[in-house]
Amino acid sequence: METAYRICPLCEATCGLKLTIDTGRITGARGDRDDVFSAGFICPKGATLGQLDSDPDRLRRPMVREGGSWTETGWAEAFAIVERGLMGVVERHGRLSVATYLGNPNVHTLAGQMYSGEFAKTVGSPNVYSASTVDQMPKHVSSGLLFGDPYAIPVPDLDRTDHLLMLGANPVESNGSLCTAPDFPGRLKKLRKRGGRLIVVDPRRTRTAALADQHVAIRPGTDAYLLFAMVHTLFEEGLADPGPLASHVEGMHALPSLAEAFTPEAVEPVCGVPADGIRTLARELAQAPTAAVYARIGTTAVEFGTLTSWLVDVLNLLTGNLDRPGGAMFPLAPHRRRGQGRGRGFQLGRWHSRVRGLPEVKGELPAAALAEEITTPGEGQVRAVVTIAGNPVLSTPGGDRLAQALAGLEFMVSVDPYLNETTRHADVILPPPPPSQSSHYDMSFNELAIRNNARYSPPPVPLAGDRVDECEILARLIQIAAGRGADVDPAEVDGRLIERDLAKAIADPASPAYGATRPSSPRSCTRVLPPNAGWI
Ligand code: SF4
Repeated sequence: METAYRICPLCEATCGLKLTIDTGRITGARGDRDDVFSAGFICPKGATLGQLDSDPDRLRRPMVREGGSWTETGWAEAFAIVERGLMGVVERHGRLSVATYLGNPNVHTLAGQMYSGEFAKTVGSPNVYSASTVDQMPKHVSSGLLFGDPYAIPVPDLDRTDHLLMLGANPVESNGSLCTAPDFPGRLKKLRKRGGRLIVVDPRRTRTAALADQHVAIRPGTDAYLLFAMVHTLFEEGLADPGPLASHVEGMHALPSLAEAFTPEAVEPVCGVPADGIRTLARELAQAPTAAVYARIGTTAVEFGTLTSWLVDVLNLLTGNLDRPGGAMFPLAPHRRRGQGRGRGFQLGRWHSRVRGLPEVKGELPAAALAEEITTPGEGQVRAVVTIAGNPVLSTPGGDRLAQALAGLEFMVSVDPYLNETTRHADVILPPPPPSQSSHYDMSFNELAIRNNARYSPPPVPLAGDRVDECEILARLIQIAAGRGADVDPAEVDGRLIERDLAKAIADPASPAYGATRPSSPRSCTRVLPPNAGWI
């Protein structure tokens, strides 16, 4: 029996786990009390990491579909089939005919974070889809337009705030989202214990709402009305004051007229919240010593999601709570410190989907458009799909229609540990190893963490002989998509990615690696990352 440590990959809280390993298997998982970020917290899901890790339904070897049946095959054979299938479609129909779908678990693995976007870029098709467009894309758009960076998402300073107004979020069940905070429920309880106030706006009396000082049972999809009425109240009562940020804000003079029609009385019948109650929400937010407004999926998966996301930060700004302790703060992930205004701004709609003309955001089209792009004939019709860690048949709108569409493709490959509702349509499934055999570093969630941290986990157990590391699977797919072939050394991709990121970091005054001497020959990322995670 051995002890190993690993960051839990099962939700956004990124808790540090202390694992018991017995003959190469995880037989126990406890919270790691010495973890600098999670300090021993674990939830029931994390405690079952061992069962998930050794789930007998996990695929161990590549699977190939022939007719209606599946057979296991070797890795070399599987990559050769992918090369023939994918590049055959490219030769016949061009690169536009290939679509990539990236599922949510891509941000929970190091390989997914480093390679999957690169794969989509290498394919060179506008048909890129991800789980973001069924979840938080409105927040990215709002942050992009407001702060110039779609990833600059302020998070509530849970441990120091005096007042938290939360909309459409249920962290007691989810453990938090777009706000990485181990033991989110415990932090909410501590907020109340130190005399702070928690207000939850949600149509349902969720477990988080039950914990709050006040539950505002709003009508679904009307958060923008409520927040606009709060903005109206702040101006009406002379409570709007951004504090030191005033000199950094453009266009604030336009806000009173934008909010003018949204009086609390006007929005009361729409959102079902009494006008007096709306005024009180605004006053309490403005008058608390520190406060933060935080909103999640209940506000972004509805009409006016972008507007609501913007209003959340407008309220943080108008009450002087943006970018200050106890308010809504910008995390400073060590690997991605941001410089001050490089002036590039944020653009969306740089291209549009072929069938419905839906706009691109962050290089992606809405996942809801994928089925029609496959089934609608014409120039640019999607004929091949690559899914990486995603099950969009189950998780995106119109899943039945998408399943029918996938069944008519000329070729499909999935990187996935399971045969599921989506991957059953693939010609080849390439299964990555389980968490116990994978290293980890949270590039995505450290950018949303309530405390700046950098933690790396080496693989708790060695890669099994019949496994291929997820980095290598994706690097080989990149080589195939680039036309270099399945047999080219995947480490060459590592070298190129490291060279590129290193060059950017060395040239960026905001980076801790600014001005550093560049090594003459960067090694494979999986070897370089542990000692040099700071600059990668
Ligand atoms: S809260 Fe999330 S990260 Fe923490 S143990 Fe549970 S599933 Fe894992």
